[in-house]
Amino acid sequence: MALLVVGSIALDSLETPFGRREDVLGGSASYFSACASFFGPTRVVAVVGEDFPEEHVRFLASRGVDLAGLARQPGRTFRWKGRYEFDLNTAHTLDTQLNVFAKFQPALPEHYRDSEYVFLGNIDPDLQRAVLDQVRAPRLVACDTMNFWIESKRESLLRTLRRVDLLFVNDAEARMLAGEHNVVKAARKILSFGPRSVVVKRGEYGALFFSGDEVFASSAVPLAAVFDPTGAGDSFAGGFMGYVARVRREDPATLRRAIVLGSVLASFTVEQFSLDRLRSLTPEEIRGRYAEARERAHFDDLEVDLFAGNGG
Ligand code: AMP
Repeated sequence: MALLVVGSIALDSLETPFGRREDVLGGSASYFSACASFFGPTRVVAVVGEDFPEEHVRFLASRGVDLAGLARQPGRTFRWKGRYEFDLNTAHTLDTQLNVFAKFQPALPEHYRDSEYVFLGNIDPDLQRAVLDQVRAPRLVACDTMNFWIESKRESLLRTLRRVDLLFVNDAEARMLAGEHNVVKAARKILSFGPRSVVVKRGEYGALFFSGDEVFASSAVPLAAVFDPTGAGDSFAGGFMGYVARVRREDPATLRRAIVLGSVLASFTVEQFSLDRLRSLTPEEIRGRYAEARERAHFDDLEVDLFAGNGG
């Protein structure tokens, strides 16, 4: 398998009802690659500044992430500051500083150019296309974005979407992108923008997958302790794409398993701040939660004709 991600590598400052953290490791490419790397090698394209702690590079490298495409440039690392209210489903952006990402012109290392699976993580859609242009023959291109880019770079984002097979968005982003309140209508409209499939993430309520006429609904892992929802979306995408790239199949049953694995990876990420839970996570824990999710979703056919003799 060969899975490539372009996205942010960030220093995040976070406020949740359970505490605050300053300048901790974050960014779409960090969460994505840390999760995808459970399934196989993952190649990162991103940029950090001079202030980026070397220990974070060592952590990602220790997970087997290929960092040949990680540039270090003069200036400050991308920074995001966010706050979550008591309802942890909505992130409020307090500040976004693109810093070294503002002028980043990615040049893919030669061995990245044969990547078959590509994840255009949440970052400037111009950059997403600049990376895609350098990949020779991608087999599956997935993409994520957020309100920041939907509002500030809509036309560029629509150009990216024409080249994308699968879009991951949360429900608020789906509504904003499509200009439709109803999530089902929004998803259908997004499919008309280019992607063959769309995954609408709904935080603690799970995810909906739309592809042609097919709809698959998956619930989130019910958790008693959620500390920091940051990175849930990227972890979902990392679990999903990591699995698909590992098995190299895109049939409906594989995609359903991928959605459940995405939910499982996201469920671990939100248990601690930043990427902290992913540092101790084991493949056995992933397997265990997947088995539990399968058990929870299982129910039998009706054994008898429920409405017999009832005029129905
Ligand atoms: P999510 O998985 O959606 O919770 O993504 C969270 C991560 O997205 C955080 O770690 C942020 O550093 C990163 N992020 C926030 N805003 C942006 C942006 N405008 N562009 C790229 N990355 C961002």
